[in-house]
Amino acid sequence: MNGNGRALVSLENVVMHYPVRMEGIVGRRRRLTAVDGVSFSISEGEALGLVGESGCGKSTVARLMMRLLTPASGRVVFMGRDITDLGRREMRPLRRHMQIVFQDPFASLNLGMKAGEIVAEPLVVHEGRRPDPGRVADLLELVGLHPGDAQKYPHEFSGGQRQRISIARALALQPKLLVLDEPVSALDVSIQAQIINLLIELKQNLGLAYLFIAHDLSVVRHVCERVAVMYLGRIVEWGNREEVFSRPCHPYTQALVSAVPVPEPFSRKERSRILLEGDAPSPLDPPSACRFRTRCWKAQELCATETPTLEHRLAGSGRAACHFPEQVEAVRTHP
Ligand code: ADP
Ligand code: MG
Repeated sequence: MNGNGRALVSLENVVMHYPVRMEGIVGRRRRLTAVDGVSFSISEGEALGLVGESGCGKSTVARLMMRLLTPASGRVVFMGRDITDLGRREMRPLRRHMQIVFQDPFASLNLGMKAGEIVAEPLVVHEGRRPDPGRVADLLELVGLHPGDAQKYPHEFSGGQRQRISIARALALQPKLLVLDEPVSALDVSIQAQIINLLIELKQNLGLAYLFIAHDLSVVRHVCERVAVMYLGRIVEWGNREEVFSRPCHPYTQALVSAVPVPEPFSRKERSRILLEGDAPSPLDPPSACRFRTRCWKAQELCATETPTLEHRLAGSGRAACHFPEQVEAVRTHP
């Protein structure tokens, strides 16, 4: 599944297991399938939003795409090259083109370094020399900080400013792809909007491609042209922003869309909110066939015996993995 342009990065049927210890049984391990046959592409300059509940495998997808993890099977292709089995040394020259920003800048920034040093670090590592102060000042200004901030330490900044530093550091090597793993989840709602606006602006001005991960659909809707919805290690729906938000096809997406707050002029009575019952099942013991069936109001016997594949939806270009897809008109979620 691809956007309009040339694919910058693709995952092809990627699978990832983690070994986990079994409680009470010393030495016994089980296999947890965190990502179970995920495929999608991101074109140059395109933003794909990857959404789903906590634990559904989003960060694992991010790490597979960055080749911080190696998939058990499937392929990762970046800039036309199969990078699935590349070692550290072979990955090095490609690394500069793909950078990752994590949720919590406090955990991901070196607190003993000044902002200017943090932003300069990728340049030191990849180019083997300290950049001139002008370059660092440019990077700080690019993310809305002041050149003078270069002399300050992380604890002297607010949470939003610290995330700006992470973004500046990620941009230092002029990457083509930014993987943003819940970049605003740790921030106050008012600050979230500022960072989202910054990401929109950077994408427009620098032609960046994003894999933008969020557990909340509302966060990706202003940034991403395309949206993929994940549930227990699999993609259940994929499509253009408008399709996914206005006419969600998979029951799980319908539930997620119904939980997105609607701006006041669009009245509440136009839609009913779908409340999902219970938590997602454990990926150690997933339901057979359709993994959503245990929480789905439409589930039939077929859903327990035959895995629905990601098929073209009823109309439009998107896809949904459901035996009983139905395009539901959601209220307009964006003016
Ligand atoms: P998300 O980012 O959507 O919250 P993750 O990719 O972090 O999901 O995790 C997917 C599943 O894999 C979860 O069930 C999580 O507990 C498990 N998991 C993640 N990392 C590890 C690990 N290092 N070892 C064992 N299990 C892991
Ligand atoms: Mg995560």
